Amino acid sequence: MFRPAITTLFLILVGFSPSSLVAVTSPTDSVTLKADDSLSLTELATTITPAEKTELPLYPMSQERKQNLIEYSQFKNLWRFVDFFFGIAILALILFTGLSAKLRNWAKVARFRFFVVWLFMILFLILDYLVNLPLSIYRSFIVESRYGFMNQTFMEWWSEDLLGLLILAVIGIVPMWFFYRLVSKFKKWWLIFSIGAIPFMILMIVIAPVVISPMFNKFEPIKDKALETKLVALASKAGIEGADVFQVNGSKQSSKINAYVTGMFGSKRIVLYDTMIDNFTHDEILFVMGHEMGHYVKQHIWWGLGLAIAFVMFSLWLTNLLIYRIINRFKGRFKFDSLSDIASLPLLLIVLSVITFIFQPITNSVSRYMERSCDLYGMDISGVDGESAATAFDKLSVYNLSDPRPHPFIEFWFYDHPALDKRIAFVRQYAVERDRQTIH
Ligand SMILES: [Zn+2]
Repeated sequence: MFRPAITTLFLILVGFSPSSLVAVTSPTDSVTLKADDSLSLTELATTITPAEKTELPLYPMSQERKQNLIEYSQFKNLWRFVDFFFGIAILALILFTGLSAKLRNWAKVARFRFFVVWLFMILFLILDYLVNLPLSIYRSFIVESRYGFMNQTFMEWWSEDLLGLLILAVIGIVPMWFFYRLVSKFKKWWLIFSIGAIPFMILMIVIAPVVISPMFNKFEPIKDKALETKLVALASKAGIEGADVFQVNGSKQSSKINAYVTGMFGSKRIVLYDTMIDNFTHDEILFVMGHEMGHYVKQHIWWGLGLAIAFVMFSLWLTNLLIYRIINRFKGRFKFDSLSDIASLPLLLIVLSVITFIFQPITNSVSRYMERSCDLYGMDISGVDGESAATAFDKLSVYNLSDPRPHPFIEFWFYDHPALDKRIAFVRQYAVERDRQTIH
């Protein structure tokens, strides 16, 4: 999925954690990179076709797949840094060459300030998208194809990527306009913005599953009726009444496996990827969905939202402290001298990206803690044996090529879910204790 710098800002502004909290595994990591080969688009479109969908069962893991898993996870870890530093370098270039100020001058043809901000945002969005495109293609299409995840042709993938850009260009103006209005009017803009962003964040959580996700995938009632009955029973045991159970054709884009429970204000949705239905036993699915229901019952969406607001507030407060000094020091090169100038957007993105990167371990630790508590909840509510839960995790690792045993530093800094090996050991241990207690 498309995610260059502006998306980072958007995610920071609208609260990035609530949606990532509800998925079993992290969504595809951010995208951007260094082009190691210069590829022309037409060349790509004709030469690269998605890997043949393998009919052989992937589980248990072959030696070859194990090798792939190690390579893929090493690549992903390296990519986190490439992504971060490359993203900053591009923004710095746009800033220090005075290009940002030029874009702002061009945007002034729009006359009304609202449209100037919007036009600037669109111009910047397109520029940033184009510069990032080779890396984005490499990371999200080529690498995913190489490891056999990609189920789309290049053009299918690219048109969805462009749809993502379009959605962003349309809805991104709301927080953007709001932000620059406040900066020009109030000294405590960071505080007002953080509070004012709350309704917008809630709106995104409410509309994303029902409006945005269906633009990319088809949601339909689950076909396996026996499984549906079990899931509805599980949901009612968890106190979630009247939830709709959907299956989504996640296999349209990727063979990766995922599932989530979402909803606010009564609109509850239990969503399973078809990739999971096809590859997991009912017990394994019940455990995973028990875990997902845990997020719902423990109101992790609300906690995630609260956390996101606190983090947005902190980040903007820190930005407020630093950014004026940077502008003062380099205003000659930047060709703008105040934060309220829309040309400051790339600088704002740099500062926010650095803050997010540095404080990631804190938000990730909280997330891992919530995940652990939901593993426990999933065990209790589903009542499945320890081995079903363990194989569910094992399969997630095999199908998604996620490293079950990352370096502790990598886990600490970047993982929003505990390492799979730890989760497996935990559910096994927990099942032993639970069963011992029921016998006595
Ligand atoms: Zn979870």
